[in-house]
Amino acid sequence: MSSSAHEIPHTTNNAGIPVESDEHSLTVGPDGPILLQDHYLIEKMAQFNRERVPERVVHAKGSGAYGFFEVTNDVGQFTKASVFQPGRRTEMLARFSTVAGEQGSPDTWRDPRGFALKFYTEHGNYDLVGNNTPVFFVRDPSKFQDFIRSQKRRPDSAVRDHDMQWDFWTLSPESAHMVTWLMGDRGIPRTYRHMNGYGSHTYMWINGGGERFWVKYHIKTDQGIDFLTQEDADRLAGEDGDLHRRDLHDSIAAGDAPSWTMYVQVMPFEDAADYRFNPFDLTKVWPHGDYPLIEVGRMTLDKNPEDFFVHIEQAAFEPSNMVPGIGPSPDKMLLGRLFSYPDTHRYRIGPNYAQLPPNRPRAAVHSYAKDGPMRYEPSRAAAVYAPNSYGGPAADVRTFGQSFGEPAGWAAAGEMVREAYRPRREDDDWTQPGTMVRQVLDDAARERLVGNVAGHLLKGVSRPVLERAFQYWRNVDKGIGDRIATRVNGG
Ligand code: NDP
Repeated sequence: MSSSAHEIPHTTNNAGIPVESDEHSLTVGPDGPILLQDHYLIEKMAQFNRERVPERVVHAKGSGAYGFFEVTNDVGQFTKASVFQPGRRTEMLARFSTVAGEQGSPDTWRDPRGFALKFYTEHGNYDLVGNNTPVFFVRDPSKFQDFIRSQKRRPDSAVRDHDMQWDFWTLSPESAHMVTWLMGDRGIPRTYRHMNGYGSHTYMWINGGGERFWVKYHIKTDQGIDFLTQEDADRLAGEDGDLHRRDLHDSIAAGDAPSWTMYVQVMPFEDAADYRFNPFDLTKVWPHGDYPLIEVGRMTLDKNPEDFFVHIEQAAFEPSNMVPGIGPSPDKMLLGRLFSYPDTHRYRIGPNYAQLPPNRPRAAVHSYAKDGPMRYEPSRAAAVYAPNSYGGPAADVRTFGQSFGEPAGWAAAGEMVREAYRPRREDDDWTQPGTMVRQVLDDAARERLVGNVAGHLLKGVSRPVLERAFQYWRNVDKGIGDRIATRVNGG
């Protein structure tokens, strides 16, 4: 903006009409009533009343930036997705967030972090909507809403309630792996720059020959993993509630662009059928020993949004945005999210959200969508229906299977049921968190885990739920469970 007064533009209303005053309403005499014909005042008040879109029910508080993804290794044998071919560089957008807190909540509350990526590829937008954890609390989308409500606010007092949280967790043993993660060091990252991202779900990759593979994404921070202790996080929640948002913005503004290296674990398609546990279960990781990490490329975030609301608040990520060469797996949570994310966007920012700057594909759009609130891209189709004889777009039927492999999809057969995944040899809920506690954490990290859990349980958790929580932790690891019980019981 220019500092010299004569270059400052004159104010207009939203229709571009010059306005007469930035300060005074139109009145009958200086002390008189305000006139209805002051349409500029009315426009200002009405616009202000509509400044907000509904905040996201989950992942409300976040931050984001634009950047690019560069492929550093050849994974073309596993996928034909153009974004992952050697030498490719693709513009992208990333949004990081907390999960349970609202827009104004502190960045340093203990919570998983969202890790949502959008790649503007030549074949349309590819969205990888992950978290900073490779696992999740539940494995069936039918439990997701219940889970989130248990973490948010009580209906009566509107305060968060640890009793509700532990009640749900201890009644849902599949949560143990994720809760172990959450209560450990990585439950409060030092900044968004110091955490990993994971696709968490299993996805399908399809190569140029139509061969299918199962993959899990790991996006490792090049800044190094770092975390905050509970004590530091509690202090910082008061001193600087926007710490993580500020850190991301200021780092990029200072030219210190954060980066992450993307890897995948690749499972041959046939392995899934008799792997020792269900590889589509979102509460499990694939051990690195079975499926080692394969480097794919690096993402760098080097551009702050010009306007936070336009580019980050209106950013709409949806796991259903999959490009040729990438498809879904039979992970029930993923399949639920394929519906729920775009549905959220339609409600929250309107049915034409895909036209907004952060969501607009760089690839040409030839859809038959038309009309609806706030639509501003004219429908350029020669006809508004298909099939038509006037040169409107026609689907390329040869692409069938590009996102699902050849032959399309996965084999599924059976009666309609409401059942958990069919049990396999090692499908239990306790082994993987137990391995983490015993083999991944060191003594100091185990001690912090015990302290974090005990501190959390001591905040308003009722006795029956406490007893269940002790058992829950003993199931993860007998020694850790005993230590938590002793700490809570004042030993
Ligand atoms: P590995 O020893 O090969 O992998 C353990 C992984 O644990 C590390 O690579 C690291 O993942 C992650 N890790 C390190 N410190 C922590 C921490 N404080 N909190 C959470 N994660 C941490 O063993 P396995 O692959 O056999 O997995 C053993 C256990 O490790 C699993 O049961 C799971 O709980 C945990 N884990 C496994 C991951 C996987 O994808 N296999 C990923 C993350 C955790 P990273 O390099 O991604 O930071």
